[in-house]
Amino acid sequence: MSKKQSNGILQTAVWNVRQSAQRLGLDERMLTRILEPREKIVVALHPFLSDGKFVHIPAFVVRHNDTLGPAKGGIRMTPGVTLDEITGLSMEMTWKTALVGVPFGGGKSGICCDPAAITPHDKEIIIRAFTRAVRRHIGPEIYVPAPDMGTNEADMGHIRDCISYSGGTSITDGCFVTGKPVVLGGIIGRRESTGQGVVHTIAAACERLKLKLADLRVAVQGFGNVGGVAAARIVKTGAAVTAVSDITGGTVKEKGLDIAKLQEHVRASGGVKGFAGGRDVPRDSVMEVPCDVLVPAAGGSSITEANAGRIQARMIAEGANAPVTPAADEILQERDIFVIPDILCNAGGVFVSYLEYTQEMQREQMTYSEVEARLTERMRKTFSDVYERAQQKKSPMRWAAIDIAVLRVVEGILARGLLP
Ligand code: GLU
Repeated sequence: MSKKQSNGILQTAVWNVRQSAQRLGLDERMLTRILEPREKIVVALHPFLSDGKFVHIPAFVVRHNDTLGPAKGGIRMTPGVTLDEITGLSMEMTWKTALVGVPFGGGKSGICCDPAAITPHDKEIIIRAFTRAVRRHIGPEIYVPAPDMGTNEADMGHIRDCISYSGGTSITDGCFVTGKPVVLGGIIGRRESTGQGVVHTIAAACERLKLKLADLRVAVQGFGNVGGVAAARIVKTGAAVTAVSDITGGTVKEKGLDIAKLQEHVRASGGVKGFAGGRDVPRDSVMEVPCDVLVPAAGGSSITEANAGRIQARMIAEGANAPVTPAADEILQERDIFVIPDILCNAGGVFVSYLEYTQEMQREQMTYSEVEARLTERMRKTFSDVYERAQQKKSPMRWAAIDIAVLRVVEGILARGLLP
């Protein structure tokens, strides 16, 4: 497979692992072992929605690797989600959990449905149908789902309820799902943790690159749980968010957008388009505005060889999973743009999921300041590990990050010996 053909999330994930295996001198059998998913499940859901008619919804669960612990990763609900996309994302989760040092493997689920086109009630019906269909693949020792694109805290609460009451009890024995509402054993700060983690890595990068956080001009693509939170948190440091886009369009203000007002506008109108505090621009042009930091925080493969040459940022902080294709990555390297790779940049979410998991296993309750302190410390430490390896090997951050993760998983496989 050539770099140019590697445009989808799965192809990007496979490309990155193959390159890492080559750099690390892994043999072909070990490469196959870390490349091939342990389990791929395809189910058909046929729930009756509130209009009394049933629908057909394909859904997927992939457990890529569980060497270091139960598979961990979110449930993506989008109309076009495919088994390949979920497989690629589950691979990313393996490297993300290994890199950030939590005792999990990598997994991911997909539900083929447009959440924006259904009522909350119908969404609950679909989430419950999904949970029943894949119940035997979920558990604290098997696969622990969480929110991802198109799913949220409320959905995780329904999964938790569906599982506990399938056995007739109010609670489960251990943690079956993370990202739950706090009232059902969720953890304070999980919702903001991915976006907050993105800001921690940008701050750490600024220290190394001798940039002042407060002087940054930041462009954010995607204004959901990752991009929206990252934007709101980074303006608190004094930085200016000068451009934001979402599915409805883009808005730009060179002096800095008022993010609180933009959030109000989005709540009222459903998107950033038409925001009075900025200038409407086409959605894709936000990727190409002059800025210091670009935060791609929407779907995968949004930076390809078609637009990588036009990006005017000096740093890219990958809030999304797999936003940069391998061909685009090479262009960014040639242009000396500093990239904070996804498995580092957006690992704050799964790290706080880990805190939720341990909290529930021990029937404990953590405070927000404990969560925040542990998240800050872990993101900073993981950034340092990656930066130091990148400096030592004179390699891009992406290579250093995946190489550290692959080495940890390989070490785990060898430590397990002849066991499966
Ligand atoms: N969906 C998030 C991710 O891609 C979080 C996964 C989790 O918390 O398990 O990292």
